[in-house]
Amino acid sequence: MHSKVVVIGSGPAAHTAAVYLARANLKPVLYEGFMANGVAAGGQLTTTTDVENFPGFPDGVMGQELMDRMRKQSEHFGTEIVSETVATLDLSVRPFKYATEWSPEEFHTADAVIVATGASARRLGLPGEDTYWQNGISACAVCDGAVPIFRDKHLVVIGGGDSAAEEAMFLTKYASHVTVLVRRDKLRASNIMAKRLLAHKKVTVRWNSAGVEVKGDDKGLMSALVVKDTKTGEQETLEANGLFYAIGHDPATALVKGQVKTDDEGYIVTTPGTTLTNIPGVFAAGDVQDKRYRQAITSAGTGCMAALEAEKYLTELEDDEEASKSSL
Ligand code: FAD
Ligand code: NDP
Repeated sequence: MHSKVVVIGSGPAAHTAAVYLARANLKPVLYEGFMANGVAAGGQLTTTTDVENFPGFPDGVMGQELMDRMRKQSEHFGTEIVSETVATLDLSVRPFKYATEWSPEEFHTADAVIVATGASARRLGLPGEDTYWQNGISACAVCDGAVPIFRDKHLVVIGGGDSAAEEAMFLTKYASHVTVLVRRDKLRASNIMAKRLLAHKKVTVRWNSAGVEVKGDDKGLMSALVVKDTKTGEQETLEANGLFYAIGHDPATALVKGQVKTDDEGYIVTTPGTTLTNIPGVFAAGDVQDKRYRQAITSAGTGCMAALEAEKYLTELEDDEEASKSSL
């Protein structure tokens, strides 16, 4: 199969790109993945409940429903959705060549590719984590911080980078107090963020501290965290109703590793203000290229940008082909 443009991924970035491409009559093919990176088609939002900050849903919307609606919209305008995971992608040839996990020997081609494979928040795998995930434990304060179970409660953030600092300060709007557990005696966060965090009246930073186990109450909600001093090994149980991981994300870039330029942390590097990668015809949208905002709406925004940039690229490609034909 040859397509003008292929979209890899199934989150807000991929579906927004597909809607724009389909409406531009480019007949996009979207590979939504089959449990790609352990996440169902639809991406990260399928793992959450209420989404309250996506415009157009004044009463909030369930993550799964939002993604079902996006998928429907992609299909409605003519996107061909394939429920397979793209396993290989060769960007060294034109047209680009790829194959899926189920048919690794059967190669397809595309003139342009939009990579929207997303990212996943790192977890610690603490005992109790699976039980209280989304019932006290989260990896996104901006997404979940405002829910009633965290109001006026003691909350814990694990991590020492800019995300941890930002998330902890965000949580002070709702929490009675926020404790930040830092595994060594130093923050990784930038000076300005570190200063703000350390000066905040509602924040306590515990150095050399690590989470050991999450405990809960009979309602199935988190109620305490066992904390260990990483130097002495001493343990203490902190009463806490929320735990936020801010220990980094893993962008899903295995497919393009060594082909597309990525930064130290593996995120695809795009020309600032665009979704252009270092390879003409390859565009990156959503969390796979964004370590700063990581929101559904910003992903959708970059999905739109990728589609418009791909459309322009394909038009120029066609013009070039026409020009070379007529010069023969
Ligand atoms: P993702 O949502 O990361 O989806 C990409 C998907 O593409 C993957 O999950 C996989 O299914 C598919 N895929 C990956 N590789 C391949 C491949 N090789 N072939 C085919 N398919 C592939 N944001 C908000 O704005 N508001 C919220 O309330 C909110 N709540 C959140 C709650 C949780 C628990 C989490 C984890 C995140 C939350 N976020 C929220 C963040 C938001 O989900 C992400 O920013 C957004 O989903 C990123 O979108 P994306 O399009 O980059 O891709
Ligand atoms: P970082 O990788 O910068 O920081 C991760 C933090 O988590 C580090 O303190 C690290 O500790 C800690 N950590 C990692 N693994 C574990 C573990 N298993 N147990 C306990 N702690 C752990 O990730 P961020 O998400 O904070 O930031 C990513 C990038 O995004 C950075 O470039 C950052 O500057 C940028 N960013 C910028 C913002 C801003 O400017 N406002 C906001 C958010 C992000 P250790 O230091 O010991 O390795």
